[in-house]
Amino acid sequence: MVLNVVQVGNEVLRKVCSPITKFDDKLAKLLDDMKDTVRDEHGAGLAAPQIGVDKRCVVVDVDEGFFEFVNPVILSKSGSYTSLEGCLSVRGQWGYVERPTKVKIEYRDRKGKKHTLTAYDFFAKCICHELDHLDGVLYTDKAERMLTPEEVKKLEEQNK
Ligand code: ZN
Repeated sequence: MVLNVVQVGNEVLRKVCSPITKFDDKLAKLLDDMKDTVRDEHGAGLAAPQIGVDKRCVVVDVDEGFFEFVNPVILSKSGSYTSLEGCLSVRGQWGYVERPTKVKIEYRDRKGKKHTLTAYDFFAKCICHELDHLDGVLYTDKAERMLTPEEVKKLEEQNK
């Protein structure tokens, strides 16, 4: 089911989310709804607080595939690059954010099984962005520079 994406100003986006403790049908439904929602929005990722649920799980939808990360933790990161970022909860804005080029994470799947994964470049950036949401951090907190309204207009015209 496609859900509404909550927007900046909503306090759920500023919460430190709690870990998932039950790997049950409720979690499966939450992850299914997050998938439907991120696909509907054409987003690269979505964190549970963005649909109003303060739990530690995110989905990432990138060229490498569709991923569900429950209770994800960053084990290591390296490299750095700065690129343009946006967020489904901060509509109409874009900013330059520095992120690692490589991250290694540990997470559980919807059944509770533990996995590790190494991601690079855009995939790594998406993971970092989504994991920040679980600690109440938005990319706008970290952005080196936000695009001006004029630059946003240009960008949105290019992306049409
Ligand atoms: Zn976001």
